[in-house]
Amino acid sequence: MTEKIIPLADIRYASSLPHVPMQVNAPKGLLSDALGRPLRDLRISVTDRCNFRCSYCMPREVFGKDYAFLPQSSLLSFEEITRLARIFVAHGVEKIRLTGGEPLLRKNLEVLIEMLAKLETPAGHPLDITLTTNASLLAKKARSLKGAGLQRVTVSLDGLNDATFRHMNDVDFPVADVLKGIDMAHQVGLAPLKINMVVKRGTNDSEIIPMARHFRHSGAVLRFIEYMDVGATNGWRMDEVMPSAQVIERIRSEFGLAALDANYAGETAERWRYLDGAGEIGVISSVTQAFCGDCNRARLSTEGKLFLCLFASQGHDLRSLLRGHYGDDQIAGAISHIWQARSDRYSELRAALPADSTAIKGLKRVEMSYIGG
Ligand code: SF4
Repeated sequence: MTEKIIPLADIRYASSLPHVPMQVNAPKGLLSDALGRPLRDLRISVTDRCNFRCSYCMPREVFGKDYAFLPQSSLLSFEEITRLARIFVAHGVEKIRLTGGEPLLRKNLEVLIEMLAKLETPAGHPLDITLTTNASLLAKKARSLKGAGLQRVTVSLDGLNDATFRHMNDVDFPVADVLKGIDMAHQVGLAPLKINMVVKRGTNDSEIIPMARHFRHSGAVLRFIEYMDVGATNGWRMDEVMPSAQVIERIRSEFGLAALDANYAGETAERWRYLDGAGEIGVISSVTQAFCGDCNRARLSTEGKLFLCLFASQGHDLRSLLRGHYGDDQIAGAISHIWQARSDRYSELRAALPADSTAIKGLKRVEMSYIGG
C-alpha cells in the first residue's frame, strides 16, 4: 500500500489526524495555545554564527567559508530584543534562555543581559535568565556575565576524549579549554550548571561513562540528549539515535541510579539521582518519548522571527512589527494571536508515523544554528 502524503500544513496543524493520540496536560497560564499549553519559556537566538562546526548542527560542508550569515542590520538590536522580551514576560514568560549559534560571539552580550535582568514578571519576580554555550569563551567571560545578571549557564559538551571532541567540533578545539570555562562558571557562581551531551550512537556513546564519572560530585547536572532530526543538513538517521533508556541502563549498571520527580511541569529532562549521593543527571528523550504535551517554549530567531516549535519550517516576522512603528499593544496582540493558534507537536507526530514517512522526510525544518536549541 502506498503511503498517503500529508501536506506540510496538515502536519503542522494535524491535531485532527484520527490515528495520532493527543497528549495535552499542561496547566493553564496567562496565555494558552490551541492545545492548552501556556507560554512560559522564551529562547532568544542572538547570533546565527558559531565558532564550532559540529556535524549534527553546523556541518562544515554546508556552513563553509562562503556561507552567507545574516548581516548586522538584520539582527534584532538589544533594545528590540528587550522590548519584545518585556511583552512576552507580560504574557507569562518566566524564563529567558539566550542561544545562538554561539551566543558569546555576540558583541557586548553583557549589555543585553543587564537590560533583561531589569525585567520582572507581573507577580514582581525577577526573570530566570540563562544561556546555552559551547563554553569556548566562557573562561574569559564568566565573571562579566555573572556581574551583568546572568544566573546560570548550560554548556554543550559531547565528550571528554580530546580526539573525539576535536573531531566532533570539527575545528580542532581542545576539550581542556571547555573544562576551564566550566570551572570558571563554577567559581563565579553561575549555578546550577548544566552540561548537555548529545549522544550519537557509534560516534560518542563511548563517552557516556567517562562523562558521568567526571561530573559526579561536581555539582553540575549532566544531561544526555537524544540525537535529533533538527534542520535538514545533518543527515539524521534513526539508527544513530541512542534511546535514553539505554543511556540510563548503562549508567545505572556502573553507579546505581534512582528516578527523581520533575522540578516543574514542562521540564524537558527526566531526572535521576546517584544512589551514593554523587548528584543528579538527566535525560532528554526528544525522539523516543516526545514531550510536546507540556511544551511551553517559544523561540525568537536572530532576525526576529517567532517560531513555535524547534522543528517548524516558518516563523512569524516580529521584526517588521518592531520596525514598522507598531505600538506595544499591537505587538502584544499579534503575539497573543499567534500563540493562541499554536498546535505544533512535531515530535509526537513523528513518533506516530513510520520512520521512513515521506510526510516527515519532506518537511523543510529550520536549522538549529539559526533558531537555537
Ligand atoms: S517537537 Fe515542537 S512542540 Fe514538540 S516538544 Fe519539541 S519544540 Fe515542543
